[in-house]
Amino acid sequence: MSEFVFPPPATPSVAVDGTPQRFPVHRIYCIGLNYADHIREFGRDPQASPPVFFMKPADAVVANGAAIPYPPRTANFHHEIELVVALGRGGRDIAAADALQCVFGYAVGNDLTRRDLQKAAKDRGEPWDTAKGFDNSAPVAAIRPASRGHVTRGRIWLQVNGETRQASDVSHMIWDVPHVIAALSQLYELRAGDLIFSGTPSGVGALRPGDRLEGGVEGLEVLRNTISAAA
Ligand code: MN
Repeated sequence: MSEFVFPPPATPSVAVDGTPQRFPVHRIYCIGLNYADHIREFGRDPQASPPVFFMKPADAVVANGAAIPYPPRTANFHHEIELVVALGRGGRDIAAADALQCVFGYAVGNDLTRRDLQKAAKDRGEPWDTAKGFDNSAPVAAIRPASRGHVTRGRIWLQVNGETRQASDVSHMIWDVPHVIAALSQLYELRAGDLIFSGTPSGVGALRPGDRLEGGVEGLEVLRNTISAAA
């Protein structure tokens, strides 16, 4: 007889560039407000807006190339192209100087957002969960192992139907990857399998069924998804 009352769900996972083996996802952490130009597009002062952390469920990951159904209960569904950091080691109270030793690799991700629900939550001082942590809200391309180099600079971009919407450089992050890992590890015990979405530059905008998305970070696999009709 099985230990479980029904079969447990499959482990969410992400492809790893250069190997058929997959990266098992433990948690998905996200940082908001980590590019000054994106903070300004929301009418806020970067100096007065420290980055914020939130989470998505591990099973929100979507494979590269997949169609993403337009999500329910929104009329303002937004893209946010981001550098994703995949951890191969964890810990608590990790020093920024040691943080890169925890990095398994890097990938391109899209922090899909129900912006209308996020605005309503902000206005009411409520949590962001329904705006950020919904089904299929975390498409991620293949992870490039850090043995092929850490990502500290390089173009980050997103096109919708061939038109550039977002374009910046990952060196413009306010908190760089080591400091994001250090700060998160003061709030949570980080683990191998954690993904960290490191924030988006300016140019976020609405998506519609039929849209074709292509996004990248220099040196990493391009993330391609389409938006399909509501499920
Ligand atoms: Mn984001």
